[in-house]
Amino acid sequence: MPIATKIAGFISKSSWIRKMFEEGERLRQIHGADSVFDFTIGNPDVEPPREFQEEFRRLAENPIPGMHRYMSNAGYQETRTAVAEVLAEAAGFAVGAEHVVMTCGAGGALNVVLKTILNPGEEVIILTPYFVEYKFYIDNHGGVPVEVWTDRTTFQLDLAAIEAAITRKTRAIIICSPNNPTGVIYPAESLEALGGIVAKKGREFDRQIYVVSDEPYARISYDGKHVPNIFRHIESSVIVTSHSKDLALPGERIGYLAANPRSRNVTQFMEGAVFSNRVLGFVNAPALMQRLVAKLQRASVDIGEYEAKRNLFCDSLTAMGFELVRPDGAFYLFPKSPLADDVEFVKLAQKHLILLVPGAGFGAPGYFRVAYCVDKAMIERSLPAWRALAQDAGL
Ligand code: PLP
Repeated sequence: MPIATKIAGFISKSSWIRKMFEEGERLRQIHGADSVFDFTIGNPDVEPPREFQEEFRRLAENPIPGMHRYMSNAGYQETRTAVAEVLAEAAGFAVGAEHVVMTCGAGGALNVVLKTILNPGEEVIILTPYFVEYKFYIDNHGGVPVEVWTDRTTFQLDLAAIEAAITRKTRAIIICSPNNPTGVIYPAESLEALGGIVAKKGREFDRQIYVVSDEPYARISYDGKHVPNIFRHIESSVIVTSHSKDLALPGERIGYLAANPRSRNVTQFMEGAVFSNRVLGFVNAPALMQRLVAKLQRASVDIGEYEAKRNLFCDSLTAMGFELVRPDGAFYLFPKSPLADDVEFVKLAQKHLILLVPGAGFGAPGYFRVAYCVDKAMIERSLPAWRALAQDAGL
């Protein structure tokens, strides 16, 4: 085999979103782009906010000498200070630039954190349904993913199940709030309880266990809800995030990690993270984007637009008989599959030119994911097809 056996195996098992994307291309060629309803990918259809375009123009017109050179592997001081300021406000205590590393997106940040903390064979708990890349990222650094279901009716943390899954080999728990794929936000009380469990188990096993909070959707929340700041509730915590979703810049690969200044051994962790950012080959986050996002820490795309899409989609699908947890944020729905086999349901949806990802792609057979970061007009146009699909599926 010309490539590693493991990678070949991963490719064949993990490619739901890619498979759906290819199927979408095929259907678009036959039926025309407007007739195919593609809800597979979390690629925001909105443009970055006006402030981004203004800063971009300003920088292009007034280039700073040396602005395309390497900088410290952690990123520009100016950018890390801007990030730290906003984090400190949310945490309610001091967070400094020295607690922040700018990264190539949240994906880059997750890899940097996992490389920094994992010894071979150590376990990382992931919560089902999960963002499928977690498993590959954990494998990248010799770790072992341990899957723990969230509550199957609410998708909230199942604290007893998490506690039971923590062993002497557990190094981290990855949480994601607002969640991809379910859209739920974990409330402060759950995070506080999780922090208590992690501290207790850490003492019992005499090891540091990290809660890695993956929060690229943190600014995309609805109904006046907010994502609680993890630093307030969990001492041994690290935030990984990006501006892929809140500033609609996924292709620009700009994000950061930030360690809780109150966590044990934080200086050593940060040294490790800066080193890992370098030797993973990221070297540093894109320079131009660092300059821009330094000015945009309080900006975001229009969340109202996403909320309107969520309302339209949730209300319509619920009226058709689909069962789902109304998401608090992000831009995904994760309804129950009306057919026992979610892959069969997704195939049935294709017949109605609706493209979805089966729950199996998130470790959660029996559900399906709908990404609604698409044009609202497409959602509206798709509703008759959804109605026909609901009927075909026996709703
Ligand atoms: N984590 C979650 C939960 C995501 O949904 C995504 C992207 O969709 C990422 C991480 C990766 O984000 P980025 O594009 O910033 O690397």
